[in-house]
Amino acid sequence: MWFVRAVKAVWQHYHPSEEVLWLLEQFRQMLNDCIRIGLEANVTSLKSLSLKAYGQLKGYEVLSYYKLCAISKATGILRNYRKAKRRAKPTKEPYARRLQLGTCYGLKIKGGILWLPFKPRQPIKILLNRHTRKVLSEPDIAVRSITLTNSRLSFAYAKEVAEIQLRGLIGIDRNLDNLTLADTEGEVERFNLVKATIIKSKYGAVKARFRRNDVRVRRSIFQKYGRKERNKVQHLLNNVSKHIVEDAKGKRFGIVMENLTGIRRLYRKGNGQGPFYRGRMNGWSFRELQRQIEYKARWKGLPVIYVRPHSTSSRCLRCGHRLLPEENRMMKCLNCGLMIDRDINAAKNILALGLRFRPLAQPVEAMVQEPAPAVILKVDGCEVG
Ligand SMILES: [Zn+2]
Repeated sequence: MWFVRAVKAVWQHYHPSEEVLWLLEQFRQMLNDCIRIGLEANVTSLKSLSLKAYGQLKGYEVLSYYKLCAISKATGILRNYRKAKRRAKPTKEPYARRLQLGTCYGLKIKGGILWLPFKPRQPIKILLNRHTRKVLSEPDIAVRSITLTNSRLSFAYAKEVAEIQLRGLIGIDRNLDNLTLADTEGEVERFNLVKATIIKSKYGAVKARFRRNDVRVRRSIFQKYGRKERNKVQHLLNNVSKHIVEDAKGKRFGIVMENLTGIRRLYRKGNGQGPFYRGRMNGWSFRELQRQIEYKARWKGLPVIYVRPHSTSSRCLRCGHRLLPEENRMMKCLNCGLMIDRDINAAKNILALGLRFRPLAQPVEAMVQEPAPAVILKVDGCEVG
């Protein structure tokens, strides 16, 4: 049996004490020191940055735990910076302004309290709220790391999950207004996401009407709307992802999705949003939906397979020929004559790509175990696998 590590997160608000604020500020300064050292010495690996930076952090009177965490965080930031520069994106040299501390060392949770190492034998204690306590008391889970800001405390926790023996797969195609699912039993399902788009465009209109020229007021109001909007969309996406994953778990079906870059084709003109807004919101909500489906599926032991978003909506699922768009989102194949809804075609193409990565027949196991019925997978007339 395969075990996979599944990770989830829970967060709460809290009031930081003087000590926590001091630690957060120390961490921010250490992080910036490490970034500067890394940029000067042009190092990228954790090991070489540790060798270069650790000694230079000796002026900080914090536990060595936090020095290691700062170095490791800086390594990640430097790596992203280098990647962005290589792609010739306009990038500012990284510098940490926000107070944020991530650590995985020496954490203890006892009696509804987080014990955070601070000085030898003098931990900082932070009270957990009821929700956090409940979540973290689930059996078989272990807290892997925490992140602190000056108002939020979040926990990443994990458990080992036995991977489910799959009976089939579900391909998911993401669109601006809907999600379309196609599975190996030939079932097709569609989730309406028009509501998410409406919420987004409503708030978009509020933002667009905003005329006051004070940058700070503007920013704070935009942030407020952004938060409200995200909460509403998040709620909607949570319901959809929950339903999909529970359904998949019941059927013992793995999930196939396109890789992130697939959102590019969602940046369509003519849906009443400005280009910047359209790109950012679509990007966010589809990544969010993908993130939710992925962590919920993994938590239940369902594998998630990503495939390359390679013309899944423009190629005929039967013969691979280019499709021509017709009315009402239908597509027609000029080669074999197939007439099909573009989203269903895309979902089935994604499913077929997933089956190439993850063929379902497992002959060795099937022979030693009960004689399983032969599985023939049909994707609308085409045999796959
Ligand atoms: Zn065709």
